[in-house]
Amino acid sequence: MRPCYPFFSNRAINSIDMFGLVLQFVGCDEFEQKLLREAWDRACTAIASDRFKSCMCKDVHTTCLRGKCQRQEVTFTCEHYESLDKCKPVPPSDQSPCAAAYENSRDVYICPKAWNNVDGHYCGPLECVLAHEVMHNCMTAGSGEKWPCKAQECAGTNCPRGGNCP
Ligand SMILES: [Zn+2]
Repeated sequence: MRPCYPFFSNRAINSIDMFGLVLQFVGCDEFEQKLLREAWDRACTAIASDRFKSCMCKDVHTTCLRGKCQRQEVTFTCEHYESLDKCKPVPPSDQSPCAAAYENSRDVYICPKAWNNVDGHYCGPLECVLAHEVMHNCMTAGSGEKWPCKAQECAGTNCPRGGNCP
């Protein structure tokens, strides 16, 4: 007898991805996955709060972030070298980023700096970084840092303004 899971029969990974039901990881070891899951849960707890909603002052963005949390709609890629691609230093500060994300996407890249204090550039707790990056995922192309920085700030009283935030 054929199993009754037509969507999951041939392309299980893509089917799950399509529905966004689980967090996905690329290049993250077990420990990094554990830390990312815990930080993501903390970010989502903050995002679910009334405090976050009123702090954001823009319901459409809160709604998008809450949807990402409900659907676990994020793919975390762990980059282990600052010299590579997404984690290269960015002008004008020439600081390498804590993390990076595409707009209108589910892809978030975690850079080495996100894990610790490198060169005195402190990214803040990981949940603050994740709230910032996933807000980028919710935005349209070229929308800049305003709302990601706002989401970062609203994600917790211990979230510093950092990175590209003015
Ligand atoms: Zn940003």
